[in-house]
Amino acid sequence: MIDEANGVELRRIVVGYLDTNCWVVRPLGGREALIVDPGDEPRRIAAAVSDLDVTGIVITHAHADHVLAVAALAGEFGVPIVGHPDEARVWAAELDYLAQHGHLDAGTATPDFVASGNLPRPSPDLRLWDGQLDHYSSRLSVGPLTVELLHTPGHTPGSLCLSLPGHLLSGDTLFPGGPGLTGPQWPLSDFTAIIASVQRLLELPPDTVVHPGHGSDTTVAAERPHLDAWRARGW
Ligand SMILES: [Zn+2]
Ligand SMILES: [Zn+2]
Repeated sequence: MIDEANGVELRRIVVGYLDTNCWVVRPLGGREALIVDPGDEPRRIAAAVSDLDVTGIVITHAHADHVLAVAALAGEFGVPIVGHPDEARVWAAELDYLAQHGHLDAGTATPDFVASGNLPRPSPDLRLWDGQLDHYSSRLSVGPLTVELLHTPGHTPGSLCLSLPGHLLSGDTLFPGGPGLTGPQWPLSDFTAIIASVQRLLELPPDTVVHPGHGSDTTVAAERPHLDAWRARGW
């Protein structure tokens, strides 16, 4: 989609065994672009950015369905990988699961990936403090566009959301109908943390379009009235 008012184009490529939304963020009027959550199918993602100059790859979190194409694309474009350092242990847990069960935790084996040895490498250096928001955040420049990375723990400890004018890429933190998955099946998740993160996200302008890591878009205005109900139900 092209949003002339906010000067940004977002391209969505649905990839991999869990239909993950991989996003391409491009400021209008230039060729620079970020790839967000290249979950799999690097050839399709590369084709979708063949007219652009990729300047970086951001992962919202290190669950396998969001990162399986990171290494291939980072190698192809020679760009940095940005992720929260707390995701290192999420990725380690994914690999532990793989080692114990022979497949990733969604039940779909990816033998080519395992054989390739091209393991994603979440960056260890992302840690800037934004006192105004009272949580970790950082800013990335993509051409003339400023993208703010918000640390929104809960689904995983180092989950990030990307805030840009008029839009939020919410990873697996906020979906239409509620927060992302937490609970005993996801040992590094934390419901109390995710509901606090979601509360912060819902303080963004009401017309902000929310683009989650799977499925359809929503808006802050559509979700905000339900926050108390989500907190009460506990998931
Ligand atoms: Zn996830
Ligand atoms: Zn996911």
